[in-house]
Amino acid sequence: MSEYILVTGGAGYIGSHTVVELINNGHKVVVVDNLVNSSYDSIARVEFIVKQSIPFFNIDLRDHDKLSEVFKAYKIKGVIHFAALKAVGESTKIPLDYYDNNVNGTISLLNVLKEHNVKTIVFSSSATVYGDVTRFGDDRYIPIPEECPLDPTNPYGRTKFVVEGILKDIHTSDPDNWKVAILRYFNPIGAHPSGLIGEDPLGIPNNLLPYLSQVAIGRRDKLSIFGNDYKSHDGTPIRDYIHVVDLAKGHIAALNYLHKLNESGLYREWNLGTGKGSTVFDIYHAFSKAVGKQLPYEVVGRRAGDVLDLTANPSRANKELGWKAELDIETACEDLWRWTTKNTHGFNVEGYSWKTFESDGNYGNRLHTFVNGDLTVALANHGALIQDINFDGDHIVNAYDNGDDYLLKSNPFFGTTVGRVANRIANGQFELNGKTYNLPKNENQNTLHGGLVGYDKENFLGPIVKKEKDVFIVEFLLVDPDGKNNFPGDVENIVRYFIDNKSIKIEYEARLLNDKVDATIINITNHSYFNLSGDATTDDTVVKLSYDNYLEVDAKTLLPTGNVIKHDRVDANKPITLSEDTFYDYCFVVDNDADAIDTRSHELKKVFEATHPRSHTKFVVSTTEPTYQFYTGVGVNTKGFVARSGFCVEPGRFVDAINNKKWAPQVILKKGEVYGSIIQYDLS
Ligand code: NAD
Repeated sequence: MSEYILVTGGAGYIGSHTVVELINNGHKVVVVDNLVNSSYDSIARVEFIVKQSIPFFNIDLRDHDKLSEVFKAYKIKGVIHFAALKAVGESTKIPLDYYDNNVNGTISLLNVLKEHNVKTIVFSSSATVYGDVTRFGDDRYIPIPEECPLDPTNPYGRTKFVVEGILKDIHTSDPDNWKVAILRYFNPIGAHPSGLIGEDPLGIPNNLLPYLSQVAIGRRDKLSIFGNDYKSHDGTPIRDYIHVVDLAKGHIAALNYLHKLNESGLYREWNLGTGKGSTVFDIYHAFSKAVGKQLPYEVVGRRAGDVLDLTANPSRANKELGWKAELDIETACEDLWRWTTKNTHGFNVEGYSWKTFESDGNYGNRLHTFVNGDLTVALANHGALIQDINFDGDHIVNAYDNGDDYLLKSNPFFGTTVGRVANRIANGQFELNGKTYNLPKNENQNTLHGGLVGYDKENFLGPIVKKEKDVFIVEFLLVDPDGKNNFPGDVENIVRYFIDNKSIKIEYEARLLNDKVDATIINITNHSYFNLSGDATTDDTVVKLSYDNYLEVDAKTLLPTGNVIKHDRVDANKPITLSEDTFYDYCFVVDNDADAIDTRSHELKKVFEATHPRSHTKFVVSTTEPTYQFYTGVGVNTKGFVARSGFCVEPGRFVDAINNKKWAPQVILKKGEVYGSIIQYDLS
């Protein structure tokens, strides 16, 4: 059984950055967070950064029983405990809530730890526990060492002080086994360099840089500088600002230190700071530089409780943990600005919402809804599937209203992404670079849509959601590992949806992630079943196919003969009315000479159009791909849906291309190359 690090408060600002570093350092992580001051989107984005899923539990630490379940399900070897309320001002107004959450939350956690014999904990403390270090009347504790006497000046700081005391006491009660690291943070700033995660202050930010970033994007008028008559080089107070990524790395160093202790216990405090003080104006100038303009500010009177200098002496952490802050305030400001400009409303995107989709409420499969004018689209992580296309009141895809039904065996790929290789591979066999690969056969003698556990059965990571120029850009990620369904190579797959108010564009992108193999094969498409009328069947739908040549198939095996011939029941652009007597499951050819692995730069060609007399929606499919399978859904027989309840138009590569010399280059993805394709649905 793998061993995990439990991260409490892992959806928060520092926690999410630490989860990234933990995983980058080879740890497995479980996150517990009650989302009181954060959103699950941060975890979804961390998953994107580290390209793997992270078990997440929406649990309040004070819920002993639920917390205990996590310890039963995962073998936890240590805890990093971030979960706390942290606003100093708020803590003076609702001190009992702060004590209850921060102190009782920790006691509950420690009880569960004790019950499960987990005795390694890294605790998020704060420089606020030192209080006003100028109270000694001289500079003896500036920069502040860990030995500085503690005297927090507000309820928040006192909750940290109390928890430090509790941790010290439990260590004393069992000194050989408890390993406790107290990390006292100075001023965390910045964001992950990817721009995907950062601080998402809800309401008016309390801290200098989050406030400045809101001034920079125009949400606040100007920065108020509280006093410029301190004894610093520019008259403003001095603080120790530490890049959140450096801070996150400090946790890995502390954890490693505790783990290396082997048989002995420990209780020890470490300052995590840079040791270099910066004034308010230093930060102001660094951030203005990152933004590219001077930001408005006003100097106002001193603020009660502010002191001249709170700089850390981090030498204990430098020496003992072998950790040192490496990033400067300029880098932090650039990273913060990237995060701010990419996420002007933090993790919120106007018109986008999500909910969990399966009855057990797991966060791995959520339903994401995008409202853009007359068009509403819903997408789920499972298969990065399309669950709804609602155009002006017409729902035009077959769908289940809950995630559980998508797991039914009889589900005929409703709305889903299909891969690694869509459509059929003859006899489940192919040869690549002199090696023969045998795939699981899931349709008679053939492998269909990627085998037993194709992309349709996986929860994609993400999505990363952006809105640019009134278009939602929604990105899902799946890493399909080497050997899965016997396909070679670790393949990273991106499914990108672009949703405006009358169209959905799907872009597929894939690449080999490493050197394990020189090449693999791939062909991705979407398997939505369309039904414009909402009737039980698509009868009376009028369709026009733009291309009437198709891949001739052997009637018995349904595999291509290699011939491309005119279809005897299709004439290009001539209307066909679907009925009980019209059967289609054929691959129509747009480009007979196709050999590109990335078609995204090719002309987007209209291949299909459909209307229905009782629907006011016209549906058009365009693609850069060389073929499209047109299937009238005769095989559908699943909960709530009958044969012909929807038709499919699946652009992609030639069927069984890998087993045909001329067609094979379309599906062979070599190391360093990128697979790409585009499908577009237009609605009018
Ligand atoms: P944050 O608010 O972004 O993260 C804290 C997380 O804990 C949030 O996701 C919140 O939802 C969760 N949480 C709170 N109470 C919980 C509970 N009872 N059960 C489960 N989850 C709960 O804050 P942050 O800035 O990431 O701070 C993390 C830790 O570091 C906190 O303990 C904070 O006091 C400490 N700290 C922060 C700073 C700072 O300036 N950000 C400075 C010093 C210390």
